[in-house]
Amino acid sequence: MKFSDFALRPEILQAVTDAGYTAPTPIQERAIPAILTGADLLGIAQTGTGKTAAFVLPMIERLASGQSKARMPRSLILSPTRELATQTAAYFETYGKHLKLTMALLIGGVGMDEQWRKLDRGVDVLIATPGRLIDQFERGKVLLGGVSILVIDEADRMLDMGFIPDVERIVGLVSRRRQTLMFSATMPAEIRRLADAFLTDPQEAQAAPPATTATGVDDHLMVVAPRQKFKALRRLIETQEVGKAIIFCNRKREVASLRRQMERAGMNARDIHGDLDQAQRTKALDAFKAGEIDFLVATDVAARGLDIARLPCVINYDVPIHADDYIHRIGRTARAGREGRAFTLALPEEGRFVDAITKLTGKQMPRLEIGGMDQPELVDEPQGRRRRGRP
Ligand code: AMP
Repeated sequence: MKFSDFALRPEILQAVTDAGYTAPTPIQERAIPAILTGADLLGIAQTGTGKTAAFVLPMIERLASGQSKARMPRSLILSPTRELATQTAAYFETYGKHLKLTMALLIGGVGMDEQWRKLDRGVDVLIATPGRLIDQFERGKVLLGGVSILVIDEADRMLDMGFIPDVERIVGLVSRRRQTLMFSATMPAEIRRLADAFLTDPQEAQAAPPATTATGVDDHLMVVAPRQKFKALRRLIETQEVGKAIIFCNRKREVASLRRQMERAGMNARDIHGDLDQAQRTKALDAFKAGEIDFLVATDVAARGLDIARLPCVINYDVPIHADDYIHRIGRTARAGREGRAFTLALPEEGRFVDAITKLTGKQMPRLEIGGMDQPELVDEPQGRRRRGRP
């Protein structure tokens, strides 16, 4: 299938060609025609599958005709994090560059004055995080009655972050005569319930199931003794010749402390976590993209939605506690069909987290054993005897 098979206008096809895409990804093949007909859509897709373009391209097509009114955005995209919101905005600019669409971004950490001015004049696209949008709505800065396309992106992440009440409230403020698109990497029962509530007679488009994405990455597991954890990371980086990687920790405190340890060991590292403001995170990411730093240490939240092309390697310094996060993390590498590597460090008592990942991906991670290190075995610790401080 080719992009030109879709009923997209030449300006959009040109922008897709400019972006260097030759063929639509599976989720794009399924979602783009459905969205163009005006249908509601439930997209089951994680990052790395091309899911953003799957809704941005047909949205641009639908919005290209029509006019915006003051304070009444014509479409609304809800994103769980500011990074994802920023990234989505960048896609609208990329794919809409040959057309005249207007856009505003309501996220924390970004100066509001310019966004208010844009909203005042009227925008075709409003991209927002839920809390920030409600805040601005309550101040009368934005009216939602004119939204004809509503997108709820990364719904499962919204759920994890406790944003669902905000999302429900926002949906209640948008006209019922709208097209609704909801995307989620996973479909827990709560997300199904929300899809039933928000979507009318939806079409479904599923990207390759998580297992396929996971197996597209060459991933390995290292079981390490707690006192050898940092040493294991160093040995891993040396022996596997990891020149550049995103390294994930479960908590922001660990992010900062690992970054310090790495710097002391002579490694070129920077960290991003939820406490940094937008400018600081963007700066770190830009430095990483530009090759000025080799290692970006991050929490799950900070890394959501970051688009780092051709990232060769992801290291999980902590085993993700939610198996879904594993999929999201390794989705940072091997994006859109490119090959990538992932390494996960697990402490012996983290066996049940590793089991949860194996269940979700349907694939056992092969063990990587590095000489000179203890090689403990994983144990399935009973629930009641978790180590203190573990969630
Ligand atoms: P996403 O799943 O939206 O996070 O997109 C993952 C990556 O795939 C991004 O770097 C996109 O620029 C890229 N991408 C999206 N669609 C295509 C396509 N049809 N061909 C090649 N790359 C794509």
